[in-house]
Amino acid sequence: MGKYSSTRRAWELTMFILGLGLGALIILCAIVYYSRQLPAGILDLDPLVRVYTPPGVEPLPATISGTVIEGILPRAAKAIKVPILLYHYVEYNHDPNDTIRMGLTVTPFWLERQLQFLRSNNYVTVSPAQLVAAVNSGRTLPPKSVMLTFDDGYRDFYTDAYPLLLKYKAKATIFVIPGFLDRPNFMYTRQLQEIATQSSGLITIGAHTVHHAALTSEKTTKAWDEVYGSKEGLEKIIGRKVEVFAYPYGFFNQETIKIVRRSGFTIAMSTIFGTTESRENLFYLPRIRVGNYAGEQFAARLK
Ligand SMILES: [Zn+2]
Repeated sequence: MGKYSSTRRAWELTMFILGLGLGALIILCAIVYYSRQLPAGILDLDPLVRVYTPPGVEPLPATISGTVIEGILPRAAKAIKVPILLYHYVEYNHDPNDTIRMGLTVTPFWLERQLQFLRSNNYVTVSPAQLVAAVNSGRTLPPKSVMLTFDDGYRDFYTDAYPLLLKYKAKATIFVIPGFLDRPNFMYTRQLQEIATQSSGLITIGAHTVHHAALTSEKTTKAWDEVYGSKEGLEKIIGRKVEVFAYPYGFFNQETIKIVRRSGFTIAMSTIFGTTESRENLFYLPRIRVGNYAGEQFAARLK
């Protein structure tokens, strides 16, 4: 009887320990599972995107810069710092009630003051091709490099911004929506072609989908049509390769990044705030919005 009892106690003890272990394992699995469901930082935009900071990359502000999207492996820990300025309209808006448009406008007067500021403070405007080459080769760009980008391809780019860029010999990139060309407010096809042939390398033409699509809400096939279609359409119009992309509304996730890379783009811009570029974020580069100011306020945006 005593022997039976001690065997049984040993058995119960074993089962108890096994039970504890199993319980702990279940809890651990649950923790791991649920923690992987949590998106991080500003990329909460879409839960498909998970963000982590790779070892060897200097920690950056909690927002986004210096993070990696899962699936894009960090190959070079070295990051470079080039402020990429984001413009939309460059015009004198006469309708003060159109607050959205007003908020997206830098007047030609202030754009010129900003270009003067860049010139007199020895800033160098660089192209996306130069940035890609620097990031991929590990070489640095001039210490005061800056990139200018203009989204949407509005007609005022041709009438107001382009002449100033030519005057100051400033490099810039425009993100054009080919499906909107020749519509009111947007550039005429012939204006875009003129920029492509006559800007002698000053202006890079990039794509911004065919119809300014919010890519994260589109079905995969539609997203492909919008991304690849904009590259193909623009290349036909300008007779030149189009390798730069910007996400309309700044919306992207892992799937859209894949589509952009496989379409043959080498670089893509987001609307995430920041000034640091590396191999990790070449397909969601941060940018900085600017407004109607120059001098110290503008200088602060370039830091
Ligand atoms: Zn846009």
